[in-house]
Amino acid sequence: PTPVVKKRRVLLKLSGEAFGGGAVGVNPDVVSSLAREIAEGAKHVEVAIVVGGGNFFRGAELSQRGMDRGRADYMGMLGTVMNALALQDFLEQAGAETRVQSAISMTQVAEQYIPRRAERHLEKGRVVIFGAGAGLPYFSTDTVAAQRALEIDADVVLVAKNGVDGVYSDDPRTNPDAQKIHHITYLEALQRGLKVVDSTAFSLCMDNHMPMQVFGMAPEGNVTAAILGTDLGTRVSN
Ligand code: UDP
Repeated sequence: PTPVVKKRRVLLKLSGEAFGGGAVGVNPDVVSSLAREIAEGAKHVEVAIVVGGGNFFRGAELSQRGMDRGRADYMGMLGTVMNALALQDFLEQAGAETRVQSAISMTQVAEQYIPRRAERHLEKGRVVIFGAGAGLPYFSTDTVAAQRALEIDADVVLVAKNGVDGVYSDDPRTNPDAQKIHHITYLEALQRGLKVVDSTAFSLCMDNHMPMQVFGMAPEGNVTAAILGTDLGTRVSN
């Protein structure tokens, strides 16, 4: 039998903020350029994606303004599905084959989340987009990115950031002396309270030895480069 060469497999986390280009809703120009970069990378690497939904709703914010937290979180999850469909559309325009899997069943618009099937899609070269988070209130899409990466046996979680290009010693927007960190351990990131992703996502990766690469989406080309394995931004690992 011919030996099977395992391809690099990545889990890319895209925040909802990126989809809106800073505004509420989906900015087609932003999503299409993002999709072209992903499609380029997906010619060589197996790519699964977890999309955020902060450009529509964040459950914690809605609940602070009086809504029931669980219901608000479901609204947040539904927002991620809209982003997933937008991304699917532009990925297909860019020539990639795609599937959307949703953690909340909505059979007309997406497959259900079936991990084994997701892996088959990846092996066939399809980009798999995971929508609706974990399907559970009180979770974030960062945590879902870590969980999906583990379940589909990805090599790395790629966290694409908007407006920042890695992990800094302090908030670079408020402290001009903040230094970019090239490599940091999960333990140190947690102890120092560095909030690049939430602590649940960090600890899930730490406990299961899943490395993370945090990088900036700009300039153009970075997303493709990160997918292909360029050491951009900050590496977080054990
Ligand atoms: N959400 C949730 N459970 C999940 C994933 C997401 O309840 O498993 C909700 C939560 O309300 C969150 C919103 O969906 O605020 C949007 O996701 P997130 O804030 O992670 O998106 P991002 O910040 O990446 O745009």
